[in-house]
Amino acid sequence: MSAADLTIAAAGAVLRSGDLSAAGLLDAVRRRIAETEPIVDAFLAMDETGADSAAAAADEAFAAGTDLGPLQGIPLAVKDNMVTRGVETTAGSQILAGYRPPYDATVVERLRAGGAVIVGKTNLDEFAMGSSTENSSFKVTHNPWDTNRVPGGSSGGSAAAVAAGSALGALGSDTGGSIRQPASLCGVVGMKPTYGLVSRYGLIAFASSLDQIGPFARTVDDAVTLFETIAGHDPSDATSYRGDVPQVRADLESGVDGLRIGVIGELAGEGMEPDVLAAFERTVELLSGAGAEIKTLSLPSVEHALSAYYLIAPAECSANLARFDGVRYGLRVDGDNVEQMMAATRRRGFGPEVTRRVLLGTYALSAGYYDAFYGQAQKVRTLVIRDFEQAYAEADVLVSPTSPTTAFCIGDRTEDPLSMYLSDVCTIPSNLAGDPAISVPVGLDGQGLPIGFQILAPALGEPVLFRVARAVEDLANFEARPGLTAGEAGA
Ligand code: GLN
Repeated sequence: MSAADLTIAAAGAVLRSGDLSAAGLLDAVRRRIAETEPIVDAFLAMDETGADSAAAAADEAFAAGTDLGPLQGIPLAVKDNMVTRGVETTAGSQILAGYRPPYDATVVERLRAGGAVIVGKTNLDEFAMGSSTENSSFKVTHNPWDTNRVPGGSSGGSAAAVAAGSALGALGSDTGGSIRQPASLCGVVGMKPTYGLVSRYGLIAFASSLDQIGPFARTVDDAVTLFETIAGHDPSDATSYRGDVPQVRADLESGVDGLRIGVIGELAGEGMEPDVLAAFERTVELLSGAGAEIKTLSLPSVEHALSAYYLIAPAECSANLARFDGVRYGLRVDGDNVEQMMAATRRRGFGPEVTRRVLLGTYALSAGYYDAFYGQAQKVRTLVIRDFEQAYAEADVLVSPTSPTTAFCIGDRTEDPLSMYLSDVCTIPSNLAGDPAISVPVGLDGQGLPIGFQILAPALGEPVLFRVARAVEDLANFEARPGLTAGEAGA
């Protein structure tokens, strides 16, 4: 087995034993990247010099007896909508091609302070708008389990990199499912924290009331490590939570005996692929066998969550993306006057999906339509929040499939935006509520493609969320790896 296939926990132990240096581990990951990138295309940019010096610094710290924590010397990847000082950051958009930020996002700063080695920036749907990474204006990322298929999105590059062993863990962002859905399609763990627990400072904004950064990893334990490193109050983010980060390690191995687990009735039947549903039901049985009390709960508003999301998210994006005006960042296309310059810049710089969302959002916010669209959507959002509150009076966590389908073929949904939007029916409700949720791989479908199981918890319910996720991981015992990397020796 290559060191690139180690978990973060195992790699940390090997580094501390002195059998492998951080530079050596980085080397193993680079060999893997050299093998898989030509087929997977997970990265937009590599940071060779940054990674070399971070690995060297980690080794020096080990030699000096300094322990910076569990990420010291660990090669990680970061979605390219989080700014990295001096390293090109594009959010997958031509409008930011060549942009080198003058600062690090808070999450990046925290990874670096923990001694992590950031190998590169991963591909994404332009401005994180999409569910397949096909909306990237640079390239298509391929699913390591079947390279004719999408890795999911919008954090498809991060999910594919972790699945392929091109990084031991990664960060993504989740506005409507963009961590959990690609995690599900790539057979890795992906988690969206409670809104406000992880700073958004330096995350290129899509829809600010929904966006949240979170981890990708191969195990729940590794996801906890990444979560613990990036969570916590940040004065630079006005929406950052001021209280203490919930302590998740203490209960992590406590199992599910006596916990009440609610199956979201609306998301556990119609519209789900048969293999997805079968794997979901099998996992629920295993949880029941392990002592959990299972009940099916109805959350009627989740059926309207998708429609509300596709008004709220575009409305917020139309405001957030106004800053890309040819003056402040990146691309400028000249025109006869300022207005023409801005129009030409935005026409050339934004791809079709981003343009569609800006138009939709501007319309939904315009005078005379505001109440009918945006106002109505906000009311639905309130209903979703209430339905969750009621459900959590009866259950400690809720569960559903993460995605209605396994990985679909490249090109299958690009012609029909609605079919693409439907990829997120199961994940969007918890973004509207601001609650945490996680996807854990639990099996393969008939075609050998991974299936994810979603667990949802109330705000600040990370301890019970990770605890159930850890139990699901144990019970499902999912150990398959993508054919691309499985079984190869000495990579
Ligand atoms: N797929 C959803 C969208 O296109 C969610 C994206 C995300 O979570 N960033 O908006």
